[in-house]
Amino acid sequence: MFDTAGFDAHERLVHVHDAASGLKAIIAVHSTVRGPAVGGCRMMPYASLDAARDDALRLSRAMTLKTAICELPFGGGKSVVIGDPATDKTPALLAALGRALNELGGLYQMAEDVGTTVADMAVIRRTSPYARGMADARGDPTPATAYGVFQALQAAVRHRFGGDLGGIHVAVQGLGNVGWRLAGYLAEAGARLSVADVDGGRARLAAERWDADVIAPDAIHALAADVFAPCALGGIIDGDGVADLGAPVIAGGANNQLADDHAAAALTRAGIVWVPDIVANAGGVIDLAHEGPDYEAARVLTDCERIAGITLDVLERAGAKDRSTLDVAQDMAQQRVRATATRDAA
Ligand code: NAD
Repeated sequence: MFDTAGFDAHERLVHVHDAASGLKAIIAVHSTVRGPAVGGCRMMPYASLDAARDDALRLSRAMTLKTAICELPFGGGKSVVIGDPATDKTPALLAALGRALNELGGLYQMAEDVGTTVADMAVIRRTSPYARGMADARGDPTPATAYGVFQALQAAVRHRFGGDLGGIHVAVQGLGNVGWRLAGYLAEAGARLSVADVDGGRARLAAERWDADVIAPDAIHALAADVFAPCALGGIIDGDGVADLGAPVIAGGANNQLADDHAAAALTRAGIVWVPDIVANAGGVIDLAHEGPDYEAARVLTDCERIAGITLDVLERAGAKDRSTLDVAQDMAQQRVRATATRDAA
């Protein structure tokens, strides 16, 4: 673990194998300084063990930063299951995953992610109390994520253009759970929309509903809009590709938008205001913090409005010091982790 590229002082990295169910999983606990490490469980047919481990290391670190910058009482973790969710996911495999959670005694608490669902979490809960994301005590996290992205985008527009969303042209990439809801909020606020989705049907629906222009999926990032909102895949902005971007503001829901370490500095040099995804899509984990018998969807959305203030704080500090927004957001989050560690040690 200490020699792997994604290692960043992670507390634990656990490899799990269960011969009977075929479970092959990796659980990364990045930090428990601020509370139990929370993070989704991703199930994918990873090409290699290295690829799965890198994902777990990288994504768990991002969860520490995301929970800290939002001042939530959580640390960061992530689990990955190597397999095809369509064919390999069985109740026995989920039960074995639950037993692995129990062995960690609550250090890591799991929620749904790509390849797993709230229903899977309910199955795991029969074996382990450490599967979160209960359908009966929490809603679908997606509305909170989309509303949080909307808050971040609105704040970035205010920062860059000094006004509201009326007449602002937003290019939305991906019209799934998050992108579709975001487009609705934007249209309601008077923005002009251009949209792209590899599922042409969804793009056409958006065109009908919001009078949006439909753009080819491989061209939306380059559209000369005011804002680009990536809400599909990660790894879409690399250092070399910054020159191709068409909008001066980027704020979207996709995880891990930057493909490499040079991209953040390249965005700053190009004068592009990028809202780090650990801030923009934090609504999902804010939603998780509300989980429990008193869960109220409206209260969660109100809590997500904090994302606007956090966004402005990051953008203003970055602008004042000519630093990348990524550096600033990471510093703010790491300072909060250090402050908690110092307080606990005293
Ligand atoms: P989703 O699968 O519902 O939607 C993704 C959409 O993007 C789909 O409509 C898909 O057809 C489209 N798409 C895929 N490749 C594309 C491409 N190359 N160009 C254009 N469109 C493309 O996923 P989601 O739940 O809406 O999540 C979107 C992003 O937000 C993901 O990166 C996810 O990790 C991140 N995220 C989601 C949540 C949440 O609460 N759902 C929370 C945090 C982060």
